[in-house]
Formats: sequence, structure tokens, C-alpha cells
Amino acid sequence: MAVTDELSIRVPELIERKRDGGQLSADEMAALMLGYAKGDIPDYQLAAFCMAVFFRGLSSAETFAMTDALIRTGETVELGKALGRKVVDKHSTGGVGDKTSIAVAPVVAACGVPFGKMSGRGLGHTGGTLDKLESIPGFKVELSTRELIEQVREVGVAIVGATADLVPADKRLYALRDVTATVDSYPLIAASIMSKKIAGGADAVVLDVKVGDGAFMKSRADAQTLAEVMIELGRRAGREVVAILSDMDQPLGHAVGNALEIREAIATLRGEGPADFVELVVSASAELLALSDLDLALEEARARAEDAIRDGSALDTYARWIAAQGGDPAEEALPNAPVVQEVRASSDGRVSTVGAVAVGVAALELGAGRRTKEDSIDHSVGVILRKKRGEEVSTGDVLAEVHAADEARAAEAVAAVSDAYAIGGAPVPQPDVVLDVIR
Ligand code: URA
Repeated sequence: MAVTDELSIRVPELIERKRDGGQLSADEMAALMLGYAKGDIPDYQLAAFCMAVFFRGLSSAETFAMTDALIRTGETVELGKALGRKVVDKHSTGGVGDKTSIAVAPVVAACGVPFGKMSGRGLGHTGGTLDKLESIPGFKVELSTRELIEQVREVGVAIVGATADLVPADKRLYALRDVTATVDSYPLIAASIMSKKIAGGADAVVLDVKVGDGAFMKSRADAQTLAEVMIELGRRAGREVVAILSDMDQPLGHAVGNALEIREAIATLRGEGPADFVELVVSASAELLALSDLDLALEEARARAEDAIRDGSALDTYARWIAAQGGDPAEEALPNAPVVQEVRASSDGRVSTVGAVAVGVAALELGAGRRTKEDSIDHSVGVILRKKRGEEVSTGDVLAEVHAADEARAAEAVAAVSDAYAIGGAPVPQPDVVLDVIR
């Protein structure tokens, strides 16, 4: 069946076939996605289809057909062709305290590799890169495709909001999945993420697949399955993809909340970042450099990333990047919350848990995130974790700081963050932040 015949497809029959464990052809999948994008197929039929996929899955051919069809619902950006360079990109499946791209982008660009990324906003307990960048006074996330290309050519780096024309069907589908309990399905997540990466013009992609309490994927096995599906989709589309599986049982780094995370990214570029965050930034940067047209072995790529932090070139690149997008790169320009309260340990021992979801929800309640797409964000508020898993504490030690708009919200967040901590007597296993790398 030709794609243009989508009106003539019998949608209930396709839903029924998937419900019963059958397969759709590439043309049928294209008709479904393109029909949905045009508004010819209603939300309720796509919702039923997504639920059938949730239970029955998609074959790799179907997942690729869905990804390809999603891409065809909008524009694609030919960033690499416009720059005459191999363009690398990075994507995280989302976590608490995840400001990795904001530090990785200037590190990679300082090493001479163009980094142009389209990013998203946060919803729920995980923050979005665009929201974090918007805590920088003056920073503009809405650039046209031409401006994006020009900035990457001139400055070497840009992170912008995805245009409305980039995979428009995914925007609707993601919102639909969000309210129909069909987000956490491997093929649907993989098609959603990879359609945006491929349409966004990346030649090579490093995926940061989060694992644990604060992530979509709660177990390493699930994260590995998702990573393998995305790697396969990338390969079929002629892209090189590497997946890092990283720990999200506790928040990443110390800072959770928009301006607080920008401060932590700046500190990291100055060589003063928290150990887990530095490790993830250097690992992701090294993988990106190794995939780039610099043709570096991974060890050499890692050394270059570390040098860019040590010699200040990554921090200089950060300042040029932020200024190019209209922002003030000075740390002092970032907003501060009016109220800061401490969370103190109520017993002696070792921190055995700092629940990522609990801290993420506390930051959300402070106003750092949004529950619905319409909510506005307070960029100044959030949580700083002073103690993380495995650290020894005594009664009365400061575990965390809460940065709030007022005393009442601060008191609520202090109670919530206090509950996020568990302190025990036994030694605590300390998994590395990078759990695995899949190539
Ligand atoms: N991020 C996306 O972009 N899509 C998903 O489906 C899940 C996470």
C-alpha cells in the first residue's frame, strides 16, 4: 500500500493485529504515523495501538519502520552537510541532576569537534537541558536552523530547542503516551529518541542510558535492551551509535535544580566538579571525540577531553557559546533563591541511599520543574546534596541544602529530602557512575 493511501487503511484491523501479536509492514506503519501526524487518525486509535505495542512489542523491522515514518512527518536538518564535517550528538534518557550535555558540549567543541544539539524541556521529576540553560539571563534557546548552523560554524557549539517541524508526530505521540501509561516501552522510547537524533542531523550519537530509581529503566538488563534497540536503529539508518549505561539510583553530581546545575557545570569546566559527574562528562566526551572525524583512539580522546578542562579551553568555549546565544556566562549572573535551609543527619553511619526520584520530586515541588507542560519554572530553586551514597556521617552533619522561594516551601522540601536519605551501619557498595559502554 502506498503511504498516500493512509486514509484507506483500516486502523482497527492494524490495532487488532498488533494486539494479537502479529506484525505490521513498513507501509502500514508509515500510514499509521503519517495519518496520525496529519490528524486523520484520532488519539484514541493511536493510544490503543501504543498499548498493544506496550504488551506485544515491535520487531526490529517494525521499530525501524516506525522511526523512519516518524522522521518523515517533519523536516530533517543537514547539519553535517552544511558544515562539511562529521557531526556528533549526545542524548540522555533523562535523570535527576543530569546537566551532562551542558558540560560535554564545550569540552567537545574545545577539542575541535562541532557540537550542535537540539534539546528538550523537562517534565515530571527529571529536568530538561533547555530549562537549565534558560536560567542563564538572556540565553536564547530558539534559533532557526540557519542560525544554528551559523553558530556551530562560528563558535563550534550550540544547544537549541527542537523546532516545531522536527518529528512533529513524536511531540503529539509522546504527550499521548504520557497520559496513557505507554511511555516505558522499549520500541516506543527507542523510535522516539532515535527519530529525533536522526532528523536532527547527527552522523554519530552517544546515548546516555540511565539505570535505576530515577530512570525509565530500573534494571541494567532493561537499560541494555533499550540501548541495543537504539544502536540497531542507528545502524540501520547509517549512523554510528555508542551507548553508555550510567547510574541513576542517586542523583548525578551534587546539584538538582536549574541555576544550581549550571553552577555545577561551570565548576566542572573549571576542574572543580564532583567525582561522579566529572567521570560521566569525561567518558561521554571521550566517546564523542572517538566517533568524530578527528580519528582518535578512545584513550587519546579521553586525554584530550581532560586536557580541555585542565587548560581552561573548555571553560573559554563555554563562555563564547553562552554569549553567542545572548546569555551572560558569568556565574554571578545566575539567580539565587532567597531562602536556604539545611537538611541534617539524624543518626551516625553511612549514607546507603539518596533516592533519585525523592530528590527530583522535592526539587519539582520547590518549583524547579513542571508537572504539566503549561507550568512555569523557578530557575533559582533546588537541592544541593552535600553527602552522597557511601559517605560517612555523624548526627547533625549537613546532608543537603534546600534552596527555596519561601520558608514554608523550604520546610516541606527539608522533610522530603531528609526522607530521601537512608543511613545504615554496613559498608555500601559503590558502583561506578559508568556501568557499561555498549558499542
Ligand atoms: N525521551 C524521549 O524523547 N522519548 C521517549 O519516549 C522517552 C524519553
